Amino acid sequence: MVLHEGNRTENEIVSGAIEAIKRYSAGVKCPTITPNEKMIKDYKLKQIIFPSPNVMIRSALDGTQLREPIICKGVSKFVPKWSRPILMCRHTFGDQYGGKDIMLNEPGTVSLLYTTDSGQFYKYDFDIRSKGVAMLTYNTEDSIKTFAESCFKVALERGYPLYFTSKFTHLKKYDQMFVNVFQEMYNKKYKPLFEKAKLKYEHRLVDDMAAYAIKSTGGFVWALKSYDGDILSDIIGQGFGSMGMMTSTFLSHDGKTVLTEPAHGTITRHYKRYQKGKSTSTNPLSTIFAWTRCLRHRAQLDSNYELLQFTNTIEKCTKETVEEGHLTRDLALCTYGHNFQDNICISTDDIINIIADKLDVQFEKLFN
Ligand code: NAD
Repeated sequence: MVLHEGNRTENEIVSGAIEAIKRYSAGVKCPTITPNEKMIKDYKLKQIIFPSPNVMIRSALDGTQLREPIICKGVSKFVPKWSRPILMCRHTFGDQYGGKDIMLNEPGTVSLLYTTDSGQFYKYDFDIRSKGVAMLTYNTEDSIKTFAESCFKVALERGYPLYFTSKFTHLKKYDQMFVNVFQEMYNKKYKPLFEKAKLKYEHRLVDDMAAYAIKSTGGFVWALKSYDGDILSDIIGQGFGSMGMMTSTFLSHDGKTVLTEPAHGTITRHYKRYQKGKSTSTNPLSTIFAWTRCLRHRAQLDSNYELLQFTNTIEKCTKETVEEGHLTRDLALCTYGHNFQDNICISTDDIINIIADKLDVQFEKLFN
């Protein structure tokens, strides 16, 4: 749908959405598709390449993406020891997603050149002796600072220790800047607050932290560079049971704007079944929580107590439904493992109807 609308409006649907999110300080985004070469042909798209809507929106809003599991009692996890949440804070500016990559079709020289108003500071030539590829990525100290600030705030608000991870042993200048910004901000501003709250901040190597996360019982905030966050937040989401059990909230650095979305993609496999008229068993929690978290933000901005109650009730009824054992296929597979049988799980329609029935009862009590 967005692809077709993007085509019709020359991608203005995305820039329009950005303006609206800024105006209302709130937005809910459905998963979107970044078309590849084949899709451009199949869907007869006008532009050679549509930029990723996610990258466009996140760059325009300038903030941090927070992923948090929805933990329901009685639902198994692929990593059973994770009894407490792992909150993933992902930097979303620059790096691979703001970089430029090129094809090297014949041997030649790729130069890294840094020119400022006062002259040329750095030049490095890579001699490439065969076909290949090259990429330039960058980041800015300002963006890293605002990211660090959000991560320290999230850790304090949630009462969890904070770990920032990097690969500074290999990227001695690039990742070192991230490490320094976090450490200086901690020393200058957050150390007394963390000590008072009996929390700690630590920098770790990303591979070391990935191994630690698997052994841990959860209960920490993990701040990650953009690419690491992209990959590891899906691994952590799956570890908690399913991508359908993760929330994804984008917080702008001025703290004003919130954009929520399901943590998963468009789930093409399920959509194709639906198109053929077959029953699906899609977990709706991540989508439901995207709506409640966004509306809750608006309720807080407007001091709208009724809206706040509305969102809390939806979350409560949704979690209760799962905790009573009404499981979609993803959760049933995780919970029953080898003993899984198709008749154990319920359909997308069934889970929505059970939640809706619970809501009817609760709304009747609250609002009538
Ligand atoms: P996906 O998350 O859509 O699905 C991968 C698999 O995970 C599914 O086949 C299913 O087995 C499982 N799954 C995910 N969510 C589930 C749920 N709620 N209930 C039950 N099972 C669930 O990832 P994909 O198939 O790699 O991507 C499909 C499309 O979505 C691609 O075009 C991709 O670019 C896009 N995508 C968009 C976003 C976004 O907009 N934020 C994120 C990821 C992928």
